[in-house]
Amino acid sequence: MSDSTVLAQNPGLDENALLARVQAPEGEGREILDAATREVIGRVPVQTVEDMDAAVARAKAAQPAWEALGHEKRSELLLKAADAIDASAEGLAHLLSREQGKPLNGPNARFEVGACSAWLRTNATTVLEPEVLVDDENLHAELVYKAAGVVGAISPWNWPLMISMWQIGPSLRMGNTVVLKPSGNTPLSVLAMVSVMNDVLPADVLIAVPGRGDTGSRLASHPDIAKVMFTGSTETGKKIIEASAGNLARLTLELGGNDAGIVLPGTDPAAIAQDLFWGAFINTGQTCAALKRLYVHDSIYEETVQALAEIAEHTPMGPGLDENNVLGPLQNKDQFDIVARLVEDAKAHGGRVVTGGEAAPELGELFYRATIVADVTDGTAVVDEEQFGPVLPVIRYTDVDDAFARANAAEVGLGASVWSSDVDAARAAATRMQSGTVWINSHGGLHPMVPFGGTKSSGYGMEFGVEGLKSVAVPQVVSGPGRKG
Ligand code: NAD
Repeated sequence: MSDSTVLAQNPGLDENALLARVQAPEGEGREILDAATREVIGRVPVQTVEDMDAAVARAKAAQPAWEALGHEKRSELLLKAADAIDASAEGLAHLLSREQGKPLNGPNARFEVGACSAWLRTNATTVLEPEVLVDDENLHAELVYKAAGVVGAISPWNWPLMISMWQIGPSLRMGNTVVLKPSGNTPLSVLAMVSVMNDVLPADVLIAVPGRGDTGSRLASHPDIAKVMFTGSTETGKKIIEASAGNLARLTLELGGNDAGIVLPGTDPAAIAQDLFWGAFINTGQTCAALKRLYVHDSIYEETVQALAEIAEHTPMGPGLDENNVLGPLQNKDQFDIVARLVEDAKAHGGRVVTGGEAAPELGELFYRATIVADVTDGTAVVDEEQFGPVLPVIRYTDVDDAFARANAAEVGLGASVWSSDVDAARAAATRMQSGTVWINSHGGLHPMVPFGGTKSSGYGMEFGVEGLKSVAVPQVVSGPGRKG
């Protein structure tokens, strides 16, 4: 089938058509609410542990033929799946926006759907060559990468489509089949994306199983799962590690973060304020590798705080389907309560709320104003804990070495950033950060060819690029006679 045939067959589905495909039958399933309006969007099927077992069995049966297709044919099908996502991009973005809360515009719902097809295309076209280890008179040894088998993918609610794709794309590319357990908070948009991909993929190569925590833990502990790709909290990540003692599944764990940024002395606050703001407030702060604690040198502290507050006050927040908004609600009440608690605690411990610092009930039940908290320091909950919401604590420092020591004191180490008008100085200081990625004069930017992963309690294993393909494969050494035969 050519691309144009695929598009002619599937000119794209709108939100209602997507919902109709994935919803539970009338009278069944569990209600999913619009994060902004709290209206019922639809009902998701609730599948059981037995359904999960059946899905893994189907994926296992489908895997050998999928692997046998070879890289070229699989790449072709994955490129068609990317086209299918693009054809329904607007419907997917609307469903995502309502279910997750993120606005259509800004670095949000349309951006996320676009990233899914972009990532999938990169996965489909990235080549993982065998590595020659020794090639001499006596020995020719190389390392080849083969499919692991069935991959269990478990994704969170903050970037539900994009993070699911980070797990699905490379896994399918390498010849694995995938069983995906989307977050119970945001299952409909993920089921919809999988459904349009399955218009072009062979049966049972990619199966999504919506369910509760017990279906997720069954997937992680299932004896026929060779690899688990997990993104979520550190707490759940530890349970996945325990489960892997039973099935010896290989793991990639992308866990929580509490990313620090350090603004070095001599930096012009006006030049970096926009990038600082979006580094922290992307997806209304509900981003694993967002800037969550900002250390600013005393000499530019107040100017930086005021520049951030000014942007926070002028950035439109509201329901995501309104084209004007770029900040949305918290996705769920638990997360809203965490954000409110941390801000109240900061106030009680002498924190200065420069802007925000309260809910925005006129916008809806789960909206919390973009908040800048100054004059807080390490040891305060809003600095020490992951807020995962629209709040940025700004911490004053006077000694650069001390700032790095405080930034590195956290148990987690996902991302970090160093900011300076002198890029060379920032680059020289960057590797002092204990984190999987350190950005210079930006925070959180990702690229499908640049590996991404955490250190310390933020997890292990890397996604994206060639490293990401290796992580969903099993290496095999092929060792034979050397040049002399
Ligand atoms: P979570 O750990 O509660 O849930 C993640 C997924 O695991 C969900 O699909 C959930 O249903 C499932 N799950 C729950 N219990 C399970 C179990 N016992 N076994 C198997 N699966 C189980 O996380 P969340 O609240 O959805 O996501 C927020 C967290 O994720 C934050 O801490 C955030 O920093 C982190 N996160 C990390 C990254 C990253 O790339 N490092 C990206 C996004 C989010």
